[in-house]
Amino acid sequence: MKKVSIALGAVLAVALVVGCSNTTVLKTVTKSETVLKTVTKTVEPYFHGPGITGTKFEKLNETVYTFHWNWYRNIVIATNEGLVVIDPMNAEMAAALRQELDRVFPGKKVHTLIYSHYHLDHTKGGAELSPENVIAHKKSPVYWNAVDHGGVLEPTRYIEGDTVLNIGGVEIQALYLGLSHTDTLYAFHLPQERLVFTADIGLVKAVPPVGVPDRYAPGYHAAMNRLIEIDFDTFVPSHFEYGTKQDLVDWRDMMEYSRRLASEAIKNQGTPGVKGNQIGEYFDMLYKPMKEKYGHWHGFNQMFILNLVRDVVGESLGY
Ligand SMILES: [Zn+2]
Repeated sequence: MKKVSIALGAVLAVALVVGCSNTTVLKTVTKSETVLKTVTKTVEPYFHGPGITGTKFEKLNETVYTFHWNWYRNIVIATNEGLVVIDPMNAEMAAALRQELDRVFPGKKVHTLIYSHYHLDHTKGGAELSPENVIAHKKSPVYWNAVDHGGVLEPTRYIEGDTVLNIGGVEIQALYLGLSHTDTLYAFHLPQERLVFTADIGLVKAVPPVGVPDRYAPGYHAAMNRLIEIDFDTFVPSHFEYGTKQDLVDWRDMMEYSRRLASEAIKNQGTPGVKGNQIGEYFDMLYKPMKEKYGHWHGFNQMFILNLVRDVVGESLGY
């Protein structure tokens, strides 16, 4: 127990140091609700701060560009028939991208907009880009129709399974990743450019946010392994920095290590809820080994508890 208190104390201390301003509601919470303040203040710097906040349009090679908008990132492919954009994300980001496209490619239209998966934080604002074609996985409308999906520009073409898109002389391989992060998820491999773009699967030296929402871990891990089998150099994820294939390998290793530790913790302490102080014991089994390897990655302290809970619950329930 003492071990747990020390470890938790260290995390909370970091949380308080990195924490930013309280919201009005948080200022009014009682002392016993301090945990709410701590959690919100801890999580916030994951998404904002130097090197994250702001925008940047960059050329990656002769064909592919990347646009960084706060913690989001997408890619633009320049083809003979026009531009291809993967994921508009939201109206603000799409409008900011439109300005960059007008500056770098005056008069060039967006030939095709592709949605990597149905999630609303990747599929809104497409109208800002006035694309001639919009491509999505065929199951996307099932999910959109169940929620308020205003702002999602309707696709003109639906695809399923692996699909090769040849647009204006550029080969774009849309790789269907099965039930992994939704069952509408594609990654994109540009063999000529030796580049892979992924949405919500893989980051560069950053831990995942909130255990990766909407993740089916067995499928997600299989998807990572499939992507790693591809021979490529440049890795562009949909959040934070871009990097190399090795960054994706490192990320897969981190996710597998965390999962394995969670599995061992459950074998040792039982599934959640069968006895007292389990979260503390899980914490003790995961924190030190994970910190030793990944403590310097972006968001380690901010997301540690949320990722721990996700891995332990997922490992217990089989998802
Ligand atoms: Zn997503």
